[in-house]
Amino acid sequence: MPRDRKRVDVLILGAGAAGLAAARDLSHAGLRVSVIEARPRVGGRILTLHDPRSPVPLELGAEFIHGEGAETLPLAQAAGLAVLELPGTHETATAGRFKPMSDFWELVDRMNHDLARRLAGRGKDFPVSEYLDSARVPAARRGMLRDFVQGFYAAHPDRLSAQSLAVEADGGGDEEDEVGGQQFRIANGGDALMKWLRDGLDPDRTEVRLSTVAESVQWKRGAVSVACRGGDRGPLPTLTARTALITLPLGVLKAGVVRFDPALPAKQRALAGLEMGQVFKIVLRFREAFWEKPEFLKERRAKSVLNDRGVGLNFLHAPGAEVPVWWTSLPVRSPVLVGYVGAVTAEQLLAEEAPSRLERSLVALSEVFAVPRRELEELLDASASHDWRADPFARGAYSYIGVGGNGAPRALARPVEGTLFFAGEATNGAEIGTVAGALSSGRRAARELLRVLQ
Ligand SMILES: Cc1cc2nc3c(=O)[nH]c(=O)nc-3n(C[C@H](O)[C@H](O)[C@H](O)COP(=O)(O)OP(=O)(O)OC[C@H]3O[C@@H](n4cnc5c(N)ncnc54)[C@H](O)[C@@H]3O)c2cc1C
Repeated sequence: MPRDRKRVDVLILGAGAAGLAAARDLSHAGLRVSVIEARPRVGGRILTLHDPRSPVPLELGAEFIHGEGAETLPLAQAAGLAVLELPGTHETATAGRFKPMSDFWELVDRMNHDLARRLAGRGKDFPVSEYLDSARVPAARRGMLRDFVQGFYAAHPDRLSAQSLAVEADGGGDEEDEVGGQQFRIANGGDALMKWLRDGLDPDRTEVRLSTVAESVQWKRGAVSVACRGGDRGPLPTLTARTALITLPLGVLKAGVVRFDPALPAKQRALAGLEMGQVFKIVLRFREAFWEKPEFLKERRAKSVLNDRGVGLNFLHAPGAEVPVWWTSLPVRSPVLVGYVGAVTAEQLLAEEAPSRLERSLVALSEVFAVPRRELEELLDASASHDWRADPFARGAYSYIGVGGNGAPRALARPVEGTLFFAGEATNGAEIGTVAGALSSGRRAARELLRVLQ
Protein backbone atom coordinates (compact mmCIF):
# COMPACT_ATOMS: atom_id res chain seq x y z
CA MET A 1 0.00 0.00 0.00
CA PRO A 2 1.44 3.45 -0.85
CA ARG A 3 2.39 5.51 2.21
CA ASP A 4 0.48 8.68 2.98
CA ARG A 5 3.19 11.29 2.24
CA LYS A 6 1.71 13.95 4.54
CA ARG A 7 1.20 11.84 7.64
CA VAL A 8 4.35 11.30 9.69
CA ASP A 9 5.13 8.04 11.48
CA VAL A 10 5.47 9.47 14.99
CA LEU A 11 4.28 12.66 16.69
CA ILE A 12 6.47 13.29 19.72
CA LEU A 13 4.91 15.49 22.41
CA GLY A 14 7.67 17.40 24.20
CA ALA A 15 11.24 18.33 23.15
CA GLY A 16 12.97 17.76 26.49
CA ALA A 17 15.72 15.19 27.02
CA ALA A 18 13.33 12.24 26.51
CA GLY A 19 11.65 13.59 23.38
CA LEU A 20 14.90 14.65 21.69
CA ALA A 21 16.68 11.35 22.48
CA ALA A 22 13.74 9.43 20.98
CA ALA A 23 13.52 11.72 17.91
CA ARG A 24 17.19 11.19 17.21
CA ASP A 25 17.01 7.38 17.31
CA LEU A 26 13.78 7.28 15.31
CA SER A 27 14.89 9.67 12.57
CA HIS A 28 18.21 7.84 12.21
CA ALA A 29 16.25 4.60 11.81
CA GLY A 30 14.46 6.14 8.82
CA LEU A 31 11.12 7.14 10.36
CA ARG A 32 9.37 10.46 9.75
CA VAL A 33 8.99 12.33 13.00
CA SER A 34 7.32 15.55 14.08
CA VAL A 35 8.18 16.96 17.52
CA ILE A 36 5.60 19.25 19.14
CA GLU A 37 7.04 21.57 21.79
CA ALA A 38 5.04 24.16 23.75
CA ARG A 39 8.00 26.40 24.58
CA PRO A 40 9.90 28.53 22.07
CA ARG A 41 13.01 26.43 22.89
CA VAL A 42 14.01 22.79 23.28
CA GLY A 43 15.43 21.24 26.47
CA GLY A 44 12.42 21.41 28.83
CA ARG A 45 13.65 21.26 32.41
CA ILE A 46 17.23 21.82 31.27
CA LEU A 47 17.38 25.61 31.27
CA THR A 48 20.80 27.26 31.00
CA LEU A 49 21.30 31.02 31.26
CA HIS A 50 24.29 32.41 29.38
CA ASP A 51 24.94 35.79 30.94
CA PRO A 52 27.96 37.57 29.44
CA ARG A 53 28.75 38.94 32.92
CA SER A 54 28.89 35.45 34.41
CA PRO A 55 32.05 33.35 33.97
CA VAL A 56 30.01 30.12 34.14
CA PRO A 57 26.70 29.12 32.55
CA LEU A 58 23.87 29.34 35.09
CA GLU A 59 21.68 26.26 35.40
CA LEU A 60 18.15 27.06 36.56
CA GLY A 61 16.99 23.45 36.06
CA ALA A 62 19.08 20.27 35.85
CA GLU A 63 22.76 20.76 36.60
CA PHE A 64 24.55 17.56 37.64
CA ILE A 65 25.27 14.31 35.90
CA HIS A 66 24.94 11.78 38.72
CA GLY A 67 27.37 8.92 38.32
CA GLU A 68 29.48 7.62 35.51
CA GLY A 69 27.26 4.72 34.52
CA ALA A 70 24.20 6.74 33.51
CA GLU A 71 23.18 7.63 29.94
CA THR A 72 24.16 11.32 30.15
CA LEU A 73 27.94 11.12 30.50
CA PRO A 74 28.59 8.86 27.46
CA LEU A 75 26.20 11.00 25.41
CA ALA A 76 27.95 14.23 26.44
CA GLN A 77 31.26 12.61 25.50
CA ALA A 78 29.85 11.45 22.15
CA ALA A 79 28.76 15.06 21.58
CA GLY A 80 32.36 16.17 22.13
CA LEU A 81 31.37 18.34 25.10
CA ALA A 82 33.79 19.23 27.88
CA VAL A 83 32.67 17.59 31.11
CA LEU A 84 33.91 18.68 34.53
CA GLU A 85 34.17 16.32 37.47
CA LEU A 86 33.18 17.85 40.80
CA PRO A 87 35.58 17.46 43.72
CA GLY A 88 32.71 15.99 45.74
CA THR A 89 33.59 17.52 49.10
CA HIS A 90 30.57 17.89 51.36
CA GLU A 91 30.72 19.86 54.60
CA THR A 92 28.18 20.69 57.26
CA ALA A 93 27.80 24.28 58.42
CA THR A 94 26.69 24.86 62.00
CA ALA A 95 26.95 28.27 63.62
CA GLY A 96 29.63 29.33 61.14
CA ARG A 97 31.79 26.21 61.60
CA PHE A 98 32.36 23.91 58.61
CA LYS A 99 33.05 20.20 59.14
CA PRO A 100 33.65 17.42 56.59
CA MET A 101 30.63 15.14 56.13
CA SER A 102 32.67 12.02 55.72
CA ASP A 103 30.17 9.53 57.13
CA PHE A 104 27.02 11.03 55.63
CA TRP A 105 26.75 8.56 52.76
CA GLU A 106 27.09 5.70 55.23
CA LEU A 107 24.10 7.18 57.06
CA VAL A 108 22.10 7.27 53.82
CA ASP A 109 23.20 3.76 53.00
CA ARG A 110 22.15 2.59 56.45
CA MET A 111 18.74 4.22 56.00
CA ASN A 112 18.21 2.38 52.72
CA HIS A 113 19.24 -0.96 54.20
CA ASP A 114 17.05 -0.38 57.29
CA LEU A 115 14.14 0.44 54.98
CA ALA A 116 14.69 -2.85 53.11
CA ARG A 117 14.74 -4.76 56.41
CA ARG A 118 11.56 -3.12 57.68
CA LEU A 119 9.86 -3.81 54.37
CA ALA A 120 10.79 -7.47 54.53
CA GLY A 121 9.29 -7.61 58.04
CA ARG A 122 6.07 -5.82 57.10
CA GLY A 123 5.54 -7.14 53.63
CA LYS A 124 4.07 -3.84 52.46
CA ASP A 125 5.22 -0.36 51.51
CA PHE A 126 5.17 2.52 54.03
CA PRO A 127 6.15 6.22 54.00
CA VAL A 128 9.81 7.11 54.61
CA SER A 129 8.65 9.53 57.35
CA GLU A 130 7.83 6.50 59.55
CA TYR A 131 11.50 5.56 59.45
CA LEU A 132 12.68 9.14 59.98
CA ASP A 133 10.40 9.51 63.02
CA SER A 134 11.67 6.38 64.72
CA ALA A 135 15.22 5.67 63.44
CA ARG A 136 17.76 5.06 66.16
CA VAL A 137 20.09 7.88 65.11
CA PRO A 138 20.81 11.14 66.94
CA ALA A 139 18.27 13.93 66.31
CA ALA A 140 20.76 16.07 64.33
CA ARG A 141 21.52 13.20 61.97
CA ARG A 142 17.84 12.47 61.58
CA GLY A 143 17.38 16.13 60.58
CA MET A 144 20.09 15.72 57.96
CA LEU A 145 18.38 12.64 56.53
CA ARG A 146 15.07 14.51 56.44
CA ASP A 147 16.74 17.42 54.58
CA PHE A 148 18.40 14.94 52.23
CA VAL A 149 15.14 13.17 51.35
CA GLN A 150 13.43 16.51 50.72
CA GLY A 151 16.34 18.03 48.81
CA PHE A 152 17.61 15.14 46.70
CA TYR A 153 14.26 13.50 45.89
CA ALA A 154 12.18 16.73 46.21
CA ALA A 155 9.89 14.46 48.21
CA HIS A 156 7.52 14.87 51.14
CA PRO A 157 8.78 12.15 53.51
CA ASP A 158 5.19 11.19 54.39
CA ARG A 159 4.43 10.53 50.70
CA LEU A 160 7.74 8.98 49.56
CA SER A 161 7.71 5.21 49.14
CA ALA A 162 10.11 3.35 51.44
CA GLN A 163 10.24 0.59 48.85
CA SER A 164 11.48 2.96 46.14
CA LEU A 165 14.60 3.74 48.21
CA ALA A 166 15.04 0.24 49.61
CA VAL A 167 15.03 -1.21 46.12
CA GLU A 168 17.92 1.05 45.18
CA ALA A 169 19.85 -0.14 48.23
CA ASP A 170 19.21 -3.76 47.24
CA GLY A 171 20.60 -2.94 43.82
CA GLY A 172 24.17 -3.18 45.10
CA GLY A 173 25.22 0.35 45.98
CA ASP A 174 23.67 2.30 43.08
CA GLU A 175 22.45 4.83 45.60
CA GLU A 176 25.96 5.51 46.78
CA ASP A 177 27.03 5.99 43.18
CA GLU A 178 24.12 8.29 42.44
CA VAL A 179 24.18 10.56 45.47
CA GLY A 180 27.55 10.12 47.09
CA GLY A 181 29.61 9.07 44.10
CA GLN A 182 31.09 11.04 41.23
CA GLN A 183 29.18 13.99 39.87
CA PHE A 184 29.84 15.95 36.70
CA ARG A 185 28.73 19.12 34.94
CA ILE A 186 28.74 19.97 31.26
CA ALA A 187 31.20 22.87 31.05
CA ASN A 188 29.26 24.86 28.44
CA GLY A 189 25.93 24.18 30.13
CA GLY A 190 23.33 21.41 29.87
CA ASP A 191 21.66 23.15 26.93
CA ALA A 192 24.71 22.26 24.79
CA LEU A 193 23.71 18.59 25.03
CA MET A 194 20.12 19.43 24.06
CA LYS A 195 21.37 21.49 21.10
CA TRP A 196 23.57 18.60 19.98
CA LEU A 197 20.61 16.21 20.10
CA ARG A 198 18.46 18.61 18.12
CA ASP A 199 21.15 19.42 15.55
CA GLY A 200 21.67 15.69 15.02
CA LEU A 201 18.08 15.08 13.88
CA ASP A 202 17.84 14.10 10.23
CA PRO A 203 16.38 17.28 8.61
CA ASP A 204 14.76 15.32 5.76
CA ARG A 205 12.70 13.24 8.12
CA THR A 206 12.23 15.39 11.23
CA GLU A 207 10.58 18.67 12.06
CA VAL A 208 10.54 20.39 15.45
CA ARG A 209 7.50 22.64 15.90
CA LEU A 210 8.29 25.11 18.67
CA SER A 211 5.66 27.29 20.43
CA THR A 212 3.09 24.58 19.65
CA VAL A 213 0.98 23.53 22.61
CA ALA A 214 -0.72 20.12 22.39
CA GLU A 215 -4.25 20.35 23.78
CA SER A 216 -5.80 16.98 23.03
CA VAL A 217 -4.87 13.59 21.62
CA GLN A 218 -7.52 11.67 19.70
CA TRP A 219 -6.50 8.15 18.91
CA LYS A 220 -7.52 4.74 17.62
CA ARG A 221 -5.28 1.81 16.72
CA GLY A 222 -2.81 3.00 14.08
CA ALA A 223 -3.99 6.64 13.92
CA VAL A 224 -3.45 9.67 16.16
CA SER A 225 -4.47 13.29 15.74
CA VAL A 226 -3.26 16.03 18.05
CA ALA A 227 -5.08 19.37 18.34
CA CYS A 228 -2.68 22.26 19.03
CA ARG A 229 -2.66 25.97 19.71
CA GLY A 230 0.17 28.44 19.21
CA GLY A 231 2.21 30.11 21.92
CA ASP A 232 -0.07 33.15 21.28
CA ARG A 233 -3.06 30.85 22.04
CA GLY A 234 -4.24 30.97 18.41
CA PRO A 235 -5.45 27.62 16.98
CA LEU A 236 -3.06 25.64 14.75
CA PRO A 237 -3.88 22.87 12.25
CA THR A 238 -4.42 19.43 13.79
CA LEU A 239 -1.44 17.11 13.30
CA THR A 240 -1.79 13.45 12.41
CA ALA A 241 0.44 10.39 12.55
CA ARG A 242 0.36 6.59 12.84
CA THR A 243 1.62 6.78 16.44
CA ALA A 244 2.41 9.28 19.19
CA LEU A 245 5.12 9.33 21.84
CA ILE A 246 4.05 11.26 24.93
CA THR A 247 6.99 12.72 26.91
CA LEU A 248 4.99 15.36 28.81
CA PRO A 249 6.10 16.02 32.42
CA LEU A 250 4.26 14.17 35.20
CA GLY A 251 2.84 17.49 36.50
CA VAL A 252 1.26 18.22 33.09
CA LEU A 253 -0.20 14.70 32.79
CA LYS A 254 -1.57 14.79 36.34
CA ALA A 255 -3.21 18.19 35.76
CA GLY A 256 -5.19 16.66 32.85
CA VAL A 257 -4.59 19.70 30.64
CA VAL A 258 -3.88 17.47 27.63
CA ARG A 259 -7.04 15.39 27.04
CA PHE A 260 -6.93 11.85 25.69
CA ASP A 261 -9.90 10.59 23.70
CA PRO A 262 -10.66 7.77 24.37
CA ALA A 263 -9.47 8.27 27.96
CA LEU A 264 -6.68 6.11 29.42
CA PRO A 265 -7.84 4.72 32.80
CA ALA A 266 -4.73 2.54 33.28
CA LYS A 267 -2.56 5.67 32.91
CA GLN A 268 -4.70 7.52 35.46
CA ARG A 269 -4.01 4.72 37.96
CA ALA A 270 -0.28 4.92 37.21
CA LEU A 271 -0.29 8.71 37.67
CA ALA A 272 -1.91 8.29 41.09
CA GLY A 273 1.13 6.27 42.25
CA LEU A 274 3.58 9.04 41.35
CA GLU A 275 4.20 12.44 42.91
CA MET A 276 5.58 15.61 41.34
CA GLY A 277 8.21 17.08 43.64
CA GLN A 278 8.87 20.80 44.08
CA VAL A 279 12.25 22.50 44.29
CA PHE A 280 13.42 26.02 44.98
CA LYS A 281 16.80 26.69 43.37
CA ILE A 282 18.44 30.11 43.38
CA VAL A 283 21.65 31.19 41.65
CA LEU A 284 23.49 34.12 43.22
CA ARG A 285 26.34 35.96 41.50
CA PHE A 286 28.57 38.04 43.78
CA ARG A 287 31.16 40.68 42.95
CA GLU A 288 33.83 38.34 44.30
CA ALA A 289 34.11 34.76 45.52
CA PHE A 290 34.64 35.87 49.12
CA TRP A 291 34.33 32.24 50.33
CA GLU A 292 37.63 31.42 48.64
CA LYS A 293 39.62 33.88 50.74
CA PRO A 294 42.03 32.18 53.15
CA GLU A 295 40.82 34.28 56.11
CA PHE A 296 37.18 33.28 55.43
CA LEU A 297 38.04 29.59 55.48
CA LYS A 298 40.46 29.95 58.38
CA GLU A 299 37.69 31.25 60.62
CA ARG A 300 35.34 28.44 59.71
CA ARG A 301 37.32 25.27 59.09
CA ALA A 302 39.31 23.14 61.51
CA LYS A 303 43.08 23.30 61.04
CA SER A 304 43.26 19.70 59.78
CA VAL A 305 40.93 20.55 56.88
CA LEU A 306 42.68 23.86 56.17
CA ASN A 307 45.93 22.03 55.79
CA ASP A 308 44.34 19.93 53.10
CA ARG A 309 45.56 22.46 50.56
CA GLY A 310 43.61 23.28 47.44
CA VAL A 311 40.23 22.02 48.64
CA GLY A 312 37.82 24.88 48.16
CA LEU A 313 34.22 24.93 49.27
CA ASN A 314 32.05 22.66 47.18
CA PHE A 315 28.81 21.49 48.90
CA LEU A 316 27.64 22.93 52.23
CA HIS A 317 24.77 21.42 54.22
CA ALA A 318 23.18 23.40 57.03
CA PRO A 319 20.36 21.42 58.67
CA GLY A 320 17.70 23.76 60.00
CA ALA A 321 18.45 26.68 57.66
CA GLU A 322 15.53 27.65 55.41
CA VAL A 323 17.73 27.04 52.36
CA PRO A 324 19.89 24.23 53.78
CA VAL A 325 22.08 23.23 50.79
CA TRP A 326 24.52 25.50 48.98
CA TRP A 327 27.21 24.80 46.40
CA THR A 328 29.89 26.62 44.47
CA SER A 329 30.89 26.19 40.82
CA LEU A 330 33.98 24.09 41.65
CA PRO A 331 36.07 22.80 39.94
CA VAL A 332 35.68 26.16 38.15
CA ARG A 333 36.36 29.02 40.53
CA SER A 334 33.75 31.72 40.05
CA PRO A 335 31.74 34.14 42.20
CA VAL A 336 28.57 32.05 41.76
CA LEU A 337 26.71 30.22 44.54
CA VAL A 338 23.61 28.06 44.25
CA GLY A 339 21.05 27.52 47.01
CA TYR A 340 18.71 24.51 46.93
CA VAL A 341 15.77 23.23 48.94
CA GLY A 342 13.01 20.76 48.09
CA ALA A 343 9.51 19.69 49.10
CA VAL A 344 7.89 21.35 52.13
CA THR A 345 10.14 24.42 52.46
CA ALA A 346 10.39 24.79 48.69
CA GLU A 347 6.61 25.00 48.51
CA GLN A 348 6.57 27.64 51.24
CA LEU A 349 9.21 29.71 49.43
CA LEU A 350 7.50 29.31 46.06
CA ALA A 351 4.31 30.69 47.59
CA GLU A 352 6.17 34.00 48.18
CA GLU A 353 6.92 36.74 45.64
CA ALA A 354 10.38 36.69 44.02
CA PRO A 355 11.86 39.56 46.14
CA SER A 356 10.84 37.76 49.34
CA ARG A 357 12.39 34.48 48.10
CA LEU A 358 15.66 36.31 47.46
CA GLU A 359 15.52 38.00 50.85
CA ARG A 360 14.91 34.70 52.65
CA SER A 361 17.71 33.04 50.70
CA LEU A 362 20.11 35.78 51.77
CA VAL A 363 19.02 35.38 55.40
CA ALA A 364 19.66 31.62 55.13
CA LEU A 365 23.05 32.13 53.51
CA SER A 366 23.99 34.67 56.16
CA GLU A 367 23.25 32.02 58.81
CA VAL A 368 25.12 29.26 56.94
CA PHE A 369 28.22 31.37 56.18
CA ALA A 370 28.09 33.46 59.36
CA VAL A 371 28.36 36.63 57.24
CA PRO A 372 26.03 39.58 58.04
CA ARG A 373 23.10 39.72 55.64
CA ARG A 374 23.87 43.38 54.82
CA GLU A 375 27.36 42.44 53.73
CA LEU A 376 25.98 39.72 51.46
CA GLU A 377 23.55 42.17 49.93
CA GLU A 378 26.34 44.64 49.22
CA LEU A 379 28.42 41.94 47.55
CA LEU A 380 25.52 40.55 45.52
CA ASP A 381 25.59 41.41 41.83
CA ALA A 382 22.66 39.43 40.43
CA SER A 383 20.33 36.54 41.14
CA ALA A 384 18.30 34.16 39.00
CA SER A 385 15.69 31.50 39.64
CA HIS A 386 12.91 29.75 37.73
CA ASP A 387 9.59 28.82 39.30
CA TRP A 388 9.02 25.30 37.93
CA ARG A 389 5.86 24.89 39.98
CA ALA A 390 4.16 27.86 38.28
CA ASP A 391 5.55 26.90 34.86
CA PRO A 392 2.52 25.56 32.91
CA PHE A 393 4.73 23.24 30.84
CA ALA A 394 6.42 21.57 33.84
CA ARG A 395 4.08 22.03 36.86
CA GLY A 396 6.83 20.93 39.21
CA ALA A 397 10.51 20.00 39.34
CA TYR A 398 10.78 16.20 39.14
CA SER A 399 8.94 13.03 40.08
CA TYR A 400 9.19 10.55 42.91
CA ILE A 401 7.41 7.33 43.75
CA GLY A 402 4.52 7.55 46.19
CA VAL A 403 3.70 4.92 48.86
CA GLY A 404 2.55 1.75 47.08
CA GLY A 405 3.52 3.20 43.69
CA ASN A 406 6.50 1.04 42.76
CA GLY A 407 4.82 -0.40 39.69
CA ALA A 408 3.65 3.04 38.54
CA PRO A 409 6.63 4.12 36.35
CA ARG A 410 6.44 0.86 34.40
CA ALA A 411 2.64 1.12 34.09
CA LEU A 412 3.00 4.70 32.83
CA ALA A 413 5.64 3.59 30.31
CA ARG A 414 3.56 0.71 28.86
CA PRO A 415 2.48 1.32 25.22
CA VAL A 416 -1.25 1.39 24.42
CA GLU A 417 -2.46 -0.69 21.47
CA GLY A 418 0.77 -0.23 19.52
CA THR A 419 -0.26 3.40 18.99
CA LEU A 420 0.47 5.52 22.07
CA PHE A 421 3.94 5.32 23.60
CA PHE A 422 5.27 6.98 26.76
CA ALA A 423 8.65 8.31 27.91
CA GLY A 424 10.01 10.98 30.28
CA GLU A 425 11.78 10.80 33.64
CA ALA A 426 8.59 9.67 35.45
CA THR A 427 8.46 6.49 33.36
CA ASN A 428 11.92 5.37 34.51
CA GLY A 429 11.60 3.89 38.01
CA ALA A 430 15.32 3.23 38.47
CA GLU A 431 16.44 6.73 37.42
CA ILE A 432 13.31 8.72 38.17
CA GLY A 433 13.76 12.50 38.45
CA THR A 434 16.97 12.70 36.41
CA VAL A 435 18.17 13.70 32.94
CA ALA A 436 19.74 10.24 32.58
CA GLY A 437 16.34 8.68 33.33
CA ALA A 438 14.67 10.91 30.74
CA LEU A 439 17.27 10.16 28.05
CA SER A 440 17.18 6.40 28.53
CA SER A 441 13.36 6.39 28.64
CA GLY A 442 13.32 8.18 25.27
CA ARG A 443 15.66 5.59 23.79
CA ARG A 444 13.59 2.73 25.28
CA ALA A 445 10.42 4.17 23.74
CA ALA A 446 12.18 4.55 20.37
CA ARG A 447 13.02 0.82 20.44
CA GLU A 448 9.38 -0.02 21.25
CA LEU A 449 8.20 2.17 18.37
CA LEU A 450 10.65 0.63 15.94
CA ARG A 451 9.38 -2.86 16.78
CA VAL A 452 5.88 -1.75 15.78
CA LEU A 453 6.67 0.50 12.80
CA GLN A 454 9.52 -1.21 10.98
C1 LIG B 1 15.46 22.80 39.59
C2 LIG B 1 15.75 21.46 38.98
C3 LIG B 1 16.98 20.86 39.22
C4 LIG B 1 17.27 19.61 38.66
N1 LIG B 1 18.51 19.07 38.84
C5 LIG B 1 18.84 17.93 38.20
C6 LIG B 1 20.18 17.47 38.23
O1 LIG B 1 21.07 18.10 38.82
N2 LIG B 1 20.47 16.31 37.58
C7 LIG B 1 19.50 15.59 36.89
O2 LIG B 1 19.82 14.55 36.31
N3 LIG B 1 18.23 16.04 36.83
C8 LIG B 1 17.88 17.19 37.46
N4 LIG B 1 16.61 17.68 37.36
C9 LIG B 1 15.58 16.86 36.68
C10 LIG B 1 15.68 16.93 35.14
O3 LIG B 1 15.68 18.28 34.74
C11 LIG B 1 14.49 16.21 34.53
O4 LIG B 1 14.35 14.91 35.09
C12 LIG B 1 14.62 16.04 32.99
O5 LIG B 1 15.15 17.18 32.39
C13 LIG B 1 13.24 15.69 32.44
O6 LIG B 1 13.29 15.50 31.05
P1 LIG B 1 11.94 15.06 30.30
O7 LIG B 1 12.24 14.99 28.86
O8 LIG B 1 11.37 13.86 30.98
O9 LIG B 1 10.90 16.24 30.63
P2 LIG B 1 10.97 17.78 30.18
O10 LIG B 1 12.36 18.26 30.13
O11 LIG B 1 10.04 18.52 31.09
O12 LIG B 1 10.40 17.76 28.71
C14 LIG B 1 9.00 17.72 28.44
C15 LIG B 1 8.69 18.79 27.40
O13 LIG B 1 7.28 18.81 27.18
C16 LIG B 1 6.91 20.16 26.91
N5 LIG B 1 5.46 20.32 27.09
C17 LIG B 1 4.77 20.43 28.25
N6 LIG B 1 3.46 20.56 28.01
C18 LIG B 1 3.31 20.54 26.65
C19 LIG B 1 2.19 20.60 25.78
N7 LIG B 1 0.93 20.74 26.24
N8 LIG B 1 2.41 20.56 24.44
C20 LIG B 1 3.67 20.42 23.93
N9 LIG B 1 4.77 20.35 24.73
C21 LIG B 1 4.59 20.39 26.07
C22 LIG B 1 7.74 20.94 27.89
O14 LIG B 1 7.84 22.30 27.51
C23 LIG B 1 9.07 20.20 27.84
O15 LIG B 1 9.96 20.78 26.91
C24 LIG B 1 16.30 18.94 37.86
C25 LIG B 1 15.07 19.56 37.62
C26 LIG B 1 14.79 20.79 38.17
C27 LIG B 1 13.47 21.46 37.86
